[in-house]
Amino acid sequence: MFGSTLKELTGIAAELGMPSYAGRQLAEWMYKRHVADIGRMSNLSKADRKKLEEHYALGNSDPVKVQTSVDGTKKYLYQSVGGRFVEAAYIPEGKRHTLCVSSQVGCKMGCLFCMTGKQGFQGQLTAGEIVNQVRSLPERDLLTNIVYMGMGEPFDNLEEVMKSLEILTEDYGFGMSPKRITVSTIGIIPAMRVFLEKSSCHLAVSLHSPFEEERRKLMPIEHVYSLSEVLSTIREFSPGKQRRTSFEYIVFKDLNHSQRHVNELARILNGIRYRINLLRFHPIPGTPLASPDDESIEQFQAALERKGLITTIRRSRGQDIYAACGLLSTKGQQDKKLQ
Ligand code: SF4
Repeated sequence: MFGSTLKELTGIAAELGMPSYAGRQLAEWMYKRHVADIGRMSNLSKADRKKLEEHYALGNSDPVKVQTSVDGTKKYLYQSVGGRFVEAAYIPEGKRHTLCVSSQVGCKMGCLFCMTGKQGFQGQLTAGEIVNQVRSLPERDLLTNIVYMGMGEPFDNLEEVMKSLEILTEDYGFGMSPKRITVSTIGIIPAMRVFLEKSSCHLAVSLHSPFEEERRKLMPIEHVYSLSEVLSTIREFSPGKQRRTSFEYIVFKDLNHSQRHVNELARILNGIRYRINLLRFHPIPGTPLASPDDESIEQFQAALERKGLITTIRRSRGQDIYAACGLLSTKGQQDKKLQ
């Protein structure tokens, strides 16, 4: 039941013969008061609570493990249905408190630089399992931002991700502003279109190289949806809804930070309202990729800014606790295998 939209909750209430307003009451208990026990929903009659308990479970779970970095970043590990591990990272930074949520267990997309990709795909998360990462977070009331940048490709689990966004942003749910939520994708165009049409949340696109051939080696999705098609889709939608688009760009040593890359980025991003987030690569086992030194990243940033591109260098967070995407859950699976 947790993770159901208002429409679905109203349907559940009707199915059990409860009053028509009971759907809204259920939403209030679960998404505003964060009650994890049907028995505590005191404005529902005892008989209705009993019926609900007989037919439905709330399906909340608390983190099974937490690791805290010296910089304050925390990685929470949740156990999903079937004993699989899902991770969420809480990142405090001044007044900004961000939660990075997962949308799948593992991932099918096989990006060369990503630990989750190496795990392969193990299953979709339900909207309830996505929203539960927010609900069960000990720092929940401090949160200012949510980013869908944890395990998985959100647009490969579109329906559940859209439901989770509805619950997080609608008045009956958590009531967060869509401007506080960013969904990150490698560019699955049909699903991205649905998101751009129906949601006002921000979009982040993994770019990593402006050259399609080079990008293809890093991100196999380029074989299916080319970067130029991704960018023209964004251009089509960018005037509406005050939406902000950002591009994630991991800087890889000797690979994607030359002047040639600067020139091409300036060319292809012309006409899009955007920011480029430059990210340091967290080394992962089994890839030939490495991170350049800080000076090279700063030189790349300066060259981009000379071309008028808006950039930020993202600080590396939580490196001591396996902060790179997928590393903690991989460790969880390994620990489990060792038990
Ligand atoms: S970067 Fe994202 S889309 Fe690519 S393999 Fe990792 S989780 Fe999947």
